[in-house]
Amino acid sequence: MKFSRLASAVLLSVAASSGCRETEPLPKTPVRTASSKPVVAPLSAQDNESTEAQRIDWGSFSSTSLRNPNDGSLVGGVPLPLSARGLQFNPKRDPAARFGTVEVVRALVNAARTVDTELGSRPVTINDLSYENGGPIPHHGAHQNGRDVDVFFYQLGPGGKPIESVGAFFDPNGIGVDFRDLTDPSDDVELRLDVPRTWRFVQALIEDEAANLQSIYLAEHLRSLLLDYSRKHGAPESTVARFAEMTCQPEYPHDDHFHFRFYCSADDIGAGCRDSAPLYAWRKKALAEVGAQSRPLLPKRERARTKTVSHEEARQAAGPLDPEVERWLDRRKEWRDPPHPGRRYCR
Ligand SMILES: [Zn+2]
Repeated sequence: MKFSRLASAVLLSVAASSGCRETEPLPKTPVRTASSKPVVAPLSAQDNESTEAQRIDWGSFSSTSLRNPNDGSLVGGVPLPLSARGLQFNPKRDPAARFGTVEVVRALVNAARTVDTELGSRPVTINDLSYENGGPIPHHGAHQNGRDVDVFFYQLGPGGKPIESVGAFFDPNGIGVDFRDLTDPSDDVELRLDVPRTWRFVQALIEDEAANLQSIYLAEHLRSLLLDYSRKHGAPESTVARFAEMTCQPEYPHDDHFHFRFYCSADDIGAGCRDSAPLYAWRKKALAEVGAQSRPLLPKRERARTKTVSHEEARQAAGPLDPEVERWLDRRKEWRDPPHPGRRYCR
């Protein structure tokens, strides 16, 4: 059995309401329209970056996020490139689930590019966003209107070299294991969380004011590692403070990926986009400056739900595993249940 099967069974079965939860039936694959295709312009003569032959013309898009993150839709969804400088969409995921608002997709592309420019990297792996037209999506409670995205952490493999990031759990020391074949202990590879590159990516998202990053769902011990690093390395205080404020551990601990949630753009609020909690003071102030105001979430519409598999059911279904995998799954209970002392679960 491969890791991805366990991941889809164990990891997704226990995800939190704020993050990635298997709750909804499979929607029809949306029909793509010509207007949603990425529009590209040639690079200028001075820009000689061989890894990216074309640059996206963001002004050619017009997207609108509607309703709630867990009951919404998306108009004019923008596709994340399958591959761009410093970034790839996970080739194991459904490419129909790579659509977001223009602000979100642009922020991801720019953040990955920043990391690659400043630190060099292997491409960061981006996972599901939303369908082109939004709506319910397998394995997630939210991700319905182009403002949620799951991203693997930057990782180091043998010899401390950057590797293609995988969905591995990381412990409080930033150590993880890529188990590969879950039944075979001989192919396990030890990983280390690449804290500098991971922090730089997060910093870029926070500092992208047009993106309106709202929340980062992340295991408390990984939040602590990133906070420590950012403070010791002179990251801007306002960015660090905002990271500390907006990051929280949901019920499912998110020790193997980030879930980023973005606020509605001011324009989209006027069209019917609704922000989930929390609404920070800085968010209210920024909206007031442009004459906008968040409105309460709309009542969630009744929709059929798929059965949610429990953590234990998923483990049983996975069958016999490499003992090291079992040990890791047990270890995760240390940080799965009680978040770091003094901090609550995400709302
Ligand atoms: Zn998610």
